[in-house]
Amino acid sequence: TEETLVLVKPDGVARGLTGTILARIEAKGYALVDIRLVEPDRDVLAEHYAEHEGKPFYEPLLEFMMSGPSVAIRLTGNRVIEGFRSLAGTTDPTSAAPGTVRGDFGRDWGLAVQQNLVHGSDSPESAQRELGIWFN
Ligand code: ATP
Repeated sequence: TEETLVLVKPDGVARGLTGTILARIEAKGYALVDIRLVEPDRDVLAEHYAEHEGKPFYEPLLEFMMSGPSVAIRLTGNRVIEGFRSLAGTTDPTSAAPGTVRGDFGRDWGLAVQQNLVHGSDSPESAQRELGIWFN
């Protein structure tokens, strides 16, 4: 059993997709360990997205992530890290498969990649690091 950090990003919350996303997580059988509405400041986001500092999309991404509340979820399950990323679909919703969150709900517009609805940790190390940032 693993743990992962899932975020329903500001676009997902604003579009009223939190319940839909939670329903998919629950249908899969993953268990909610903790869940909270969060309004991260710049420091939290800089830590979370440290690996992307200096990239062209970094500043707009932080601004977007401060544009409204997100929902942070501590999730547990068998191979949940890979499983949730599979449920989320590829980073770019344009190419995400139907049946995935990003494939079904990611909108076809200029900010599709930035506003891709969800985040999921990509490794056990990232999960522990990120859970420490969002749930401490
Ligand atoms: P996440 O870590 O959020 O699940 P990911 O691992 O699929 O996403 P990363 O490459 O780690 O994607 O990028 C982190 C986030 O940065 C993406 O989810 C997206 O919001 C944003 N992002 C990544 N690449 C771009 C890009 N080329 N243009 C705009 N935003 C981007």
